[in-house]
Amino acid sequence: MINLLIGIVASAFASWFFSRWYYRQSSVETPEWANKVPAWAIPLIQKLPDAPVSIERLIDLYHDAIQAGGIQPHPSGFIKCPECGAGADKFVAWQVAAPELGSLFHGYKCSECNCELTADED
Ligand SMILES: [Zn+2]
Repeated sequence: MINLLIGIVASAFASWFFSRWYYRQSSVETPEWANKVPAWAIPLIQKLPDAPVSIERLIDLYHDAIQAGGIQPHPSGFIKCPECGAGADKFVAWQVAAPELGSLFHGYKCSECNCELTADED
């Protein structure tokens, strides 16, 4: 009779142990969001804190992403159009001469939505 009780307790404990072990294994699996982002971005996203991020930290993460090879910033500094989200392949350079002012205005704009990305004067 004692052996039967010990057997029941031991099997209950083994069942609990394996179910807990399986639960822990499943909880460390890749999170859902990680399936939707490129592999190079996962370590960068995991570095993001839960609290608001400082500008300096954002710049560090931006540089980390460049060094990881995940992004290649356009000469304008943008990766995508801030207005319509078009890729940098849609960016075009523009320039307008203003001889009366002795100036040359130039910059980049998005060819998809015509948003002006940068503007400089020489
Ligand atoms: Zn755009």
